[in-house]
Amino acid sequence: MSDTIIKVDLNKSAYEHDTIHNRWHPDIPMVATVKPGDDFKVECLDWTGGQIKNDDDAADVRDVDLTQVHFLSGPIAVEGAEPGDLLVVDILDIGTFEDSQWGFNGFFSKQNGGGFLTEHFPEAQKSIWDFNGMFTKSRHVPGVEFAGLIHPGLIGCLPSKEMLNEWNTREKALFDTDPERIPALATLPYEDTAHMGRMTAEQAAIAGPEGARTVPPREHGGNCDIKDLSRGSKVYFPVYVDGAGLSVGDLHFSQGDGEITFCGAIEMAGWVHMRVNLIKGGMEKYAIKNPIFKPSPITPRYDDYLIFEGISVDEQGQQHYLDVHIAYRQACLNAIEYLKKFGYSGAQAYAILGTAPVQGHISGVVDIPNACATLWLPTDIFEFDVKPNTAGPTEYLDGSIAVPLAPDL
Ligand code: ZN
Repeated sequence: MSDTIIKVDLNKSAYEHDTIHNRWHPDIPMVATVKPGDDFKVECLDWTGGQIKNDDDAADVRDVDLTQVHFLSGPIAVEGAEPGDLLVVDILDIGTFEDSQWGFNGFFSKQNGGGFLTEHFPEAQKSIWDFNGMFTKSRHVPGVEFAGLIHPGLIGCLPSKEMLNEWNTREKALFDTDPERIPALATLPYEDTAHMGRMTAEQAAIAGPEGARTVPPREHGGNCDIKDLSRGSKVYFPVYVDGAGLSVGDLHFSQGDGEITFCGAIEMAGWVHMRVNLIKGGMEKYAIKNPIFKPSPITPRYDDYLIFEGISVDEQGQQHYLDVHIAYRQACLNAIEYLKKFGYSGAQAYAILGTAPVQGHISGVVDIPNACATLWLPTDIFEFDVKPNTAGPTEYLDGSIAVPLAPDL
């Protein structure tokens, strides 16, 4: 039996846990120490720390306090780890809590967070997903069921002070190019809701105002939201501080490439079973700047897809030069319009793309002026035939599919 070195209480506030933090800073005290070769379990709150409830009302998504996220378990010290090493993390398993067999997906309102398609879906909405072993389905999005590709949305090591300063400087510079923009261009440090783990009040008063927010992925990994970094993966993380300081959170039961809905994937509380090892001096030996990883030998098998193409021409018909962001948006919008023909609301279709194991690919970036991105929609997640045929999609409409997603208020 491996030890659970960090436990959480879902009935308590994240701020009452001193083994949790929500900012990146090199001075956040380690909460546990492990040795190379050890395996151990870590429990995690959901990324919002329980702000989103299992009900049919999206007011909690609309009113979420995004300055609080993400709540991470750690940091964990690894004996002998030094800057320049690679921390090798085997994600041996990830699981749900017996008494918390559900997760949530939603889109934030444009005024509070937004999302990839916020211009098209400006109001907050949410869907609740129930877990049945390795499968999930939602009372808010009928007609689909799929196996979870369970993974941590966020995992990485503490930054050095130099790296932290670099992050804050470059992100502030971007923010300052359009400080009034909604949603904002970057999430800057914010002391009021900083949770600095086991720091004393005096230490937190100094570190809180400069602690980096956990929203973007950065050189250390962090909030990469890579669905394929699932249980069974082996990850190689750059180490920047003595002891490495490994933290993890933002567990996802399942997610589509891009995590386009932003109020996540299927967000959940749960546990991660990990094993750590070190490659001394590995960053220079292998020229590692950002983490690399080996995927799991076991993944849900969906090998039939409908693939939607998108090009870098925006909704107004304007031509953009090799813009992959716009091309992927068009591929997603094309998939949503297609699914609406089967009776789904646009919001339900958006939720499917955010939660199911859809793949996103950059298919072409040289054929000027259009980039081509593709969205791969697995056909076997649907309880009806989603492929085109001569009879047309109305054949599959039975009136039960088009129920509203949890309404915005
Ligand atoms: Zn997430």
